[in-house]
Amino acid sequence: MSRFTRRTFNRSLGATVALGALALPGSAPFAAGTKAQVVVVGGGFGGATAAKYIKRFDPSISVTLVEPSTHFITCPFSNTVIGGLNTIDYITQNYDALKKMGVEVVHDLVAHIDGAKKQVKLTRGGTIAFDRCVVSPGIDFRWEKIEGLDASTAGTIPHAWKAGPQTLLLRKQLEAMPNGGTFIISPPVNPFRCPPGPGERISLVASYFKKAKPKSKIVVLDPKKKFSKQGLFKEGWAKLYPGMINYHNVDNDGVVRRVDPKTMTLHTDFGKYKGDVVNFIPSQRAGKIAQVSGLTDNTEWCPIDQQTFESRLVPGVHVIGDSSIASPMPKSGFAASTQAKVCAEAVVNLLKGRMPGTPKFVNTCYSLVDENYGISVAMVYGYEGGKIIKIKGSGGLSPSGADANFHQKEANYARGWYESISNDIWG
Ligand SMILES: Cc1cc2nc3c(=O)[nH]c(=O)nc-3n(C[C@H](O)[C@H](O)[C@H](O)COP(=O)(O)OP(=O)(O)OC[C@H]3O[C@@H](n4cnc5c(N)ncnc54)[C@H](O)[C@@H]3O)c2cc1C
Repeated sequence: MSRFTRRTFNRSLGATVALGALALPGSAPFAAGTKAQVVVVGGGFGGATAAKYIKRFDPSISVTLVEPSTHFITCPFSNTVIGGLNTIDYITQNYDALKKMGVEVVHDLVAHIDGAKKQVKLTRGGTIAFDRCVVSPGIDFRWEKIEGLDASTAGTIPHAWKAGPQTLLLRKQLEAMPNGGTFIISPPVNPFRCPPGPGERISLVASYFKKAKPKSKIVVLDPKKKFSKQGLFKEGWAKLYPGMINYHNVDNDGVVRRVDPKTMTLHTDFGKYKGDVVNFIPSQRAGKIAQVSGLTDNTEWCPIDQQTFESRLVPGVHVIGDSSIASPMPKSGFAASTQAKVCAEAVVNLLKGRMPGTPKFVNTCYSLVDENYGISVAMVYGYEGGKIIKIKGSGGLSPSGADANFHQKEANYARGWYESISNDIWG
């Protein structure tokens, strides 16, 4: 399996920046003496990285980051909070370092992005002008796809797929659940944020039950045929949690048609399942601001030029992270951050009338099956024929049948990855 360190990645990004020194035919550089303005919408994995790296690549550019929250709680490692391994403080980041390096941080919600007027409208009033805008608003839920649930029922049946109060609510419900109770989790259809996330959540809830409520059961109702790192997760579950997890996929009555929050019952085609704690993760689409600003197509995600992440629908506006159509890359925090660096380089070069470079991307998704049992999947991506492609022979999966020492090391790498990426973005 290939491993990519930050040094390796920075070297490949360096090559991209060097290529970007070519002049863009027919495009005048940004007028000398005037300060280029970039507005970044969303201060999560994609947005905070983009703001930081645009400023780092060219400190003369004025960068404004608009994000409603003063603190960002990361989804990565939120399953460890749900499983009782960490507190919420461990996954809480702030914007002090970005402010210190000269990024202007405005805590507000963008109500609309106007590509024609080149300005964003803030919810509390006022507008901010931009020469280029980078948008990374994460996901929105398609509540209309499931009967019985909507945003208001998330207080009873949490999704916990945006970290914060939802993470704490699910943890609290699990703590209050009796020993011998049933936890039901229903993952979403593809594409969705963090393909290995449900597998990790099932694992870390099982790890908590094994320690604190060993008579309890987990029922999984998954509308898909298979899931990310399935073989590795199932191997870990058989070793660590035998008999605890009952997995239904699409061929085994895994599709939930209706949910009754009053009775905590999920109705499928052939049966009904009652839980003490229910975690229903709805299907997803691009963040709402992308929808209302005309950045989404009929897939409900944002089509982009995969070299620069500039929207195919609204020129001058770039979309990165979960909202963008960047397949074959998965919707992950690591992917969002690596896309942000490529996009930052493209934005800086485009503002200067220069050709953007040929991008390279990397993604590793670590998952914990238990505190000391990690697994991973990695891939390097290039750009060819106008598309992001997987580089043949790169990446790979943790081997099956590995020993405890191997999985311990992978768990250590997972924690190292989290600390390194959060420090890279918010540190
Ligand atoms: C349980 C779980 C575990 C995960 N684990 C991992 C992992 O181990 N590794 C990994 O790489 N990925 C992981 N992920 C996936 C990762 O969290 C996402 O892919 C990543 O956060 C996407 O980055 P983003 O910038 O697109 O969105 P986000 O990081 O969600 O950031 C979006 C930001 O935009 C802001 N925003 C939204 N609308 C507006 C608006 N109108 N105006 C201003 N701001 C706005 C939001 O407040 C938010 O701060 C996990 C996800 C989940 C759910």
